[in-house]
Amino acid sequence: MIEILNPTELTRARESGALVGGILRTLRDRAVAGTNLLDIDRWTREMIAAAGAQSCYVDYAPSFGRGPFGHYICTAVNDAVLHGMPHDYRLADGDLLTLDLAVSLDGIAADSAISFVVGGDRAADAGSRALIEVTERALAAGIAAAGPGARIGDLSHAIGTVLGGAGYPVNTEFGGHGIGSTMHQDPHVANTGRPGRGYRLRPGLLLALEPWVMADTDELVTDADGWTLRSATGCRTAHSEHTVAITDDGAEILTLPR
Ligand code: MG
Ligand code: MG
Repeated sequence: MIEILNPTELTRARESGALVGGILRTLRDRAVAGTNLLDIDRWTREMIAAAGAQSCYVDYAPSFGRGPFGHYICTAVNDAVLHGMPHDYRLADGDLLTLDLAVSLDGIAADSAISFVVGGDRAADAGSRALIEVTERALAAGIAAAGPGARIGDLSHAIGTVLGGAGYPVNTEFGGHGIGSTMHQDPHVANTGRPGRGYRLRPGLLLALEPWVMADTDELVTDADGWTLRSATGCRTAHSEHTVAITDDGAEILTLPR
């Protein structure tokens, strides 16, 4: 099912998006050397509760996971990239951390992910900076391609051109998605594809666009926790995601902090 939001729902989506963006910004500021991933999970739970919102993750139990996720945020370090389950690990300067958060407020979900290096630019190696930069640039390209009348393939092509153009292999097992009253909906937005193909975008559609990349492989392996996906080669990874609303003029990014 593809959901089209009415103006009232879109107003609520802006609030959900700002909440997700605000929580991620706070967590980014707090994630320093010595911070435990379980502290990040606890802070996320507290901020979701304080906003009167609901986690999209804690009870989430899709076919590809092993039972309910049981946590409030995905924390993926270095070679981990998707669905990273928070565990007892203290961050160190130079770690490449991805935080991925989806929250529902007043019945509308928003989903966003950021990657950054703990300790900031002075602690970041060139390879990590390049991975993060390419996912951010691919996300911007996907958003720039989005608007009424554009097709899903146009967005996939824009994202894939940036990732592939930088020399990275593109995995098509996981990508972007429709979002609205639930976190994951049609249409799927692959991170590479052919322009002019697929569903034609309409105002009121919400999409979560999420380019992610691994430095030297397109193959994933799953941790013993049944959730955390890592690069098969142990190489570093990055992931950038925003929820956007298709408007009459283009695409509005909803998951920015206010
Ligand atoms: Mg996400
Ligand atoms: Mg998503």
